[in-house]
Amino acid sequence: MNAMGSFTANRLADRVRRVAAIAAQYTNQVDAENRVPREAVEALKIEKLLSVMVPVELGGEGATTAEIADACAILGTACGSSAMIFAMHQIKMSSLVEHGMGSEWHRDLMARICAEQLVMGSATTEAGIGGNLRNSICHVEVTGDRFKLDKAASCISYAEISDAIMVTSRAHKDAAPTDQVMTVVMKDQYSLERTHEWNVLGMRGTRSEGFMFRSEGDACQILPQPFAEIAAESMLAQAHILWGALWWGIAADACARAQSFIRSEARRNPGQTPVGAPHLVKALGHLQMIKSNLLVAIDQYEMAKRDHDYLQSVGYGVAINLLKVTTSETILEIINECMNVCGLPGYRMDTPYSLGRHLRDAHSAQLMISNDRVKLNVAGMLAMTKPDTSLLG
Ligand SMILES: Cc1cc2nc3c(=O)[nH]c(=O)nc-3n(C[C@H](O)[C@H](O)[C@H](O)COP(=O)(O)OP(=O)(O)OC[C@H]3O[C@@H](n4cnc5c(N)ncnc54)[C@H](O)[C@@H]3O)c2cc1C
Repeated sequence: MNAMGSFTANRLADRVRRVAAIAAQYTNQVDAENRVPREAVEALKIEKLLSVMVPVELGGEGATTAEIADACAILGTACGSSAMIFAMHQIKMSSLVEHGMGSEWHRDLMARICAEQLVMGSATTEAGIGGNLRNSICHVEVTGDRFKLDKAASCISYAEISDAIMVTSRAHKDAAPTDQVMTVVMKDQYSLERTHEWNVLGMRGTRSEGFMFRSEGDACQILPQPFAEIAAESMLAQAHILWGALWWGIAADACARAQSFIRSEARRNPGQTPVGAPHLVKALGHLQMIKSNLLVAIDQYEMAKRDHDYLQSVGYGVAINLLKVTTSETILEIINECMNVCGLPGYRMDTPYSLGRHLRDAHSAQLMISNDRVKLNVAGMLAMTKPDTSLLG
């Protein structure tokens, strides 16, 4: 049995299912009104799910990556935007948990997150840089024990409900674009001036608007490790696994809708296999493949955390990047197959088989760090690694 089958995972999953039931009630409203799914976020706080990753010694539950991925998948079946907000918050939490335990300020913050269920936002994307996570134009200016940090942050999700934002920048004014740090800035330490509206195809509830971000605070709020290490050791893997899990959830709900369409067709015409059934078979095959990929990736990540050389290896880098590319592209194929199963009732926006929102939300997956960028990175790594021709590794 892998980590997904543990007892804790089941208890956590029950709490997540209660949140998902609430999120599902508001999904269409959130989409139509282009607003944050505040009911789902409130429910996450009530169930104390925002602090599950924090170690027990600081008041959290020490939830595993597998348990949190499962939570993302469950939320993904109900509301893509709520699931993405939860996943992004947890990706930020992983930077704190993996890289902030040695810093008193960050430990105190984690304890506060447990007590107050604070929401953590992210500002990595920058005007002039786009999704090139490992480059910054802006820099953090440290004078004495204080910092000043301004950033043209072209995309910050759910900023209006965030209690803190974690911001990447160059380490100082003369630092190279790749010499980056990550700073945690609390709500009362920054101002946001809106530069871009969020009127988009899908994931509308994430409200990922652009802002001119200006802040000041204490220098101890800068995470001690370079961002290069944070990205390589935890953030990339956490992002690709948790995004992948919620994207899988969106596709799984599309398959569930297609399957219920097939069942209703079969009831109407007993003895006849519904004409769209082969499309569902193909969709379910792809869905199963992504699930297997995710479970393997979770096991590999747990292994990599215990083996620093493996974590830093080219082979691991290739695997975790391929997970993102494959998942984000395959969910579109799955939902398209489901649309072929359901026909017009799937295309319509007002039936139990509607798939429009799933398809629109799923389209964001390839852009969220452009697959072109990821593929170029992987292509660069291929020259340095041997072909994988063994099933057991
Ligand atoms: C729902 C959603 C929520 C988000 N939330 C946040 C958030 O909270 N915080 C945050 O910081 N960001 C957030 N982002 C932004 C995200 O992380 C990426 O930064 C963003 O999607 C990249 O945008 P882009 O396509 O404009 O930029 P780019 O990555 O620059 O890509 C633009 C295009 O240029 C091409 N391209 C440019 N350079 C290269 C290259 N070197 N190699 C290959 N191709 C290249 C690509 O083909 C791509 O199509 C969010 C995005 C989405 C969709």
